[in-house]
Amino acid sequence: MNRLPSKPFKGTKNKKELDLSDFPPGSVTEYSTIVCLSCTFDIFTKQIGLAPRTAYSEIKKYSPTVSELTAATASPPFFDSEEKKPRCPYCNSAGRWHARFDTIRIEGDKSTDVARRKLTKSLPQKDGQFQVVETKSDRRTTFFGWLDTLGHNLEVDDNRWLLDSTRAYLARHEPKTDWATVFDGVRSVRRSQRLAEGWARDGGRLFLAPQLYNEVLIVQYLVSRSHVHGGQTLEGRLTLQELIRRLRYGGYLDAQGIAAGDQFEILEQVIEKISGGAGKVKLYHIVDRREFLDKVKSVYASYAG
Ligand SMILES: [Zn+2]
Repeated sequence: MNRLPSKPFKGTKNKKELDLSDFPPGSVTEYSTIVCLSCTFDIFTKQIGLAPRTAYSEIKKYSPTVSELTAATASPPFFDSEEKKPRCPYCNSAGRWHARFDTIRIEGDKSTDVARRKLTKSLPQKDGQFQVVETKSDRRTTFFGWLDTLGHNLEVDDNRWLLDSTRAYLARHEPKTDWATVFDGVRSVRRSQRLAEGWARDGGRLFLAPQLYNEVLIVQYLVSRSHVHGGQTLEGRLTLQELIRRLRYGGYLDAQGIAAGDQFEILEQVIEKISGGAGKVKLYHIVDRREFLDKVKSVYASYAG
């Protein structure tokens, strides 16, 4: 729910925030969830029967799992809320009983390794304020996670949608380029038969090689197809059938070695190609436990006092 996979384009928020500016856009996803400490203390003292002091030292050590921190729907003692002063949906407690966990997920890759090591080294080591958890995934799963984030952060009906979604894909495809500069002043994106690969800028127009252009269409279709009938793309609103027809006549399907089949089989193969399919990827989760540790302390003080 409110796992703000927040703004993959910028890493700006309040001062406590980690500096993510060294990471290519699209390689980092941010998650946020709230844990209710009133519920948590109740579990440890009433259900398990620990004395408050013991419960306190156990809770301090507590490390939520990656799925608890990043799940689409939170389960107790976690909850998500968009309200400024939420109440716990389970016990109705107020904000001083709640602690927010922020989690940053970085896709392990050559383009992120240096920045990730630097960030990890810069984290305070004391008292488990941060925790780094590694998990394994595959390219297809992370691709869909990325699409999901894109869908959360961009308004499909917005005028800027076509440009922003194009830019997001290019940033994922070619992380080293400074896309903010490339897109400065761009008003439209066009296919160019003259480009064998890559892109070129001419005045307010950005030209993409056919292959790249087609991949942008695919991404736009996949992100927006649930919002409107068909998908909203640079080529207008397309149904799956229309998208595939364009990919076929544009030579994309042949170039990718995609075999014939019905439209859903073809879409499957297209997704396999564009995502990298079953290729393995390592995910690094940096869990910010600072607010949790602070709150556990103050909650214990009021609990014990
Ligand atoms: Zn609660």
